[in-house]
Amino acid sequence: MSVPSCLIGLTTPELVEFAQGLGESAFRGRQLGNHLYKKFAQDFDSMTDLPASFREKLKNSAVVSPLTVAQHRVSTDGVEKLLVHNGDSQVYECVLLPYEDRVSCCISTQVGCPMGCVFCATGLGGFDRNLKLSEIIGQYLLLQSISKRRISHIVFMGMGEPLLNLDAVIKALRIFHDEIGLSYRHLTISTVGLVPQIEKLAEENLPIHLALSLHSPLDEVRDRLMPVNHKWPVERVMQAMRDYQAATGRKVTFEYLLINGINDTPEQANALARLVAGVPCVVNLIPWNWVDTGNGFERPTRERVRTFRGILANRGVNVTERVERGHDIAAACGQLAGQHQGKFAKRKETAWTLPLAP
Ligand code: SAH
Ligand code: SF4
Repeated sequence: MSVPSCLIGLTTPELVEFAQGLGESAFRGRQLGNHLYKKFAQDFDSMTDLPASFREKLKNSAVVSPLTVAQHRVSTDGVEKLLVHNGDSQVYECVLLPYEDRVSCCISTQVGCPMGCVFCATGLGGFDRNLKLSEIIGQYLLLQSISKRRISHIVFMGMGEPLLNLDAVIKALRIFHDEIGLSYRHLTISTVGLVPQIEKLAEENLPIHLALSLHSPLDEVRDRLMPVNHKWPVERVMQAMRDYQAATGRKVTFEYLLINGINDTPEQANALARLVAGVPCVVNLIPWNWVDTGNGFERPTRERVRTFRGILANRGVNVTERVERGHDIAAACGQLAGQHQGKFAKRKETAWTLPLAP
């Protein structure tokens, strides 16, 4: 028996080829594309305008989506979190984020993450594998199939480091734009700061939004929080971001996690303002969400966050603060770690140095 292929991730021309391979017309292939990417079908039975004989052939040769929902949690503030897998123990998560003026979603790019940031639940849980193109797009399509409103924005801020899975992520960006019809400007990639991959992404010249997880302007602090800083320290990654900004003409975002007494000092606020001066950017402050890191980290008080923010604003930095959502269902960034399995899902050892070679 042949292994069923998954249709999500194929472009319309590829679906046409697939339909023709089953002895159907090009038109049927285009209909398939319409069902997958415009009507968000999750199975063949809902494609009622396809002839029953074609649907039978499809069922025998392919599946629509590789994803199975293991858990679905709904927060009191409307946020919904799905824990999904492909029939094995490797779970990953995606989150639906409805706002008054738009609906956004947060998707994963890896099962776990090998980067080992010491404040992050995903990083603490180790790394299993990259997600495939079908699994990346499948998260959006699944969320859209349960959302009453159109999801117009995607942030790649779930589990994993998107730039370690760059080929699949770039293909996914193109499908989100070309097939699903999302604006590139509404797609945001967040990276820990992999310099060669940032440079490669700039060469693609897609008008997406790039965010760097900076978290400290000082190497001695960033070194302790994010092992990647040993390889590409602050000045090196800032140069890559400045180059990216200049090449694309798009404003960049610097995400800045605030951990009490570690990186939220006035000294670092001032150094951060100096570091980003002259770069068309937004600094997004994120009060750290508590996860059991074992190293005594705490979330700063409102007062400390206000002070940090005030210093940046006074120095002319464009600064925003992330509004926390889905608190009651652990949907926040850095908490996407398969908590259903206890403290953290146990994955392979973190080996952040391995996949980094350009
Ligand atoms: N790997 C990418 C994208 C996924 S993490 C990256 O690191 O940028 C998305 C964001 O959540 C990053 O800015 C990350 O630093 C942040 N984050 C991780 N753990 C967090 C926590 N416990 N509380 C708040 N934000 C966290
Ligand atoms: Fe990976 Fe991002 Fe978590 Fe760091 S913060 S461990 S890069 S998911």
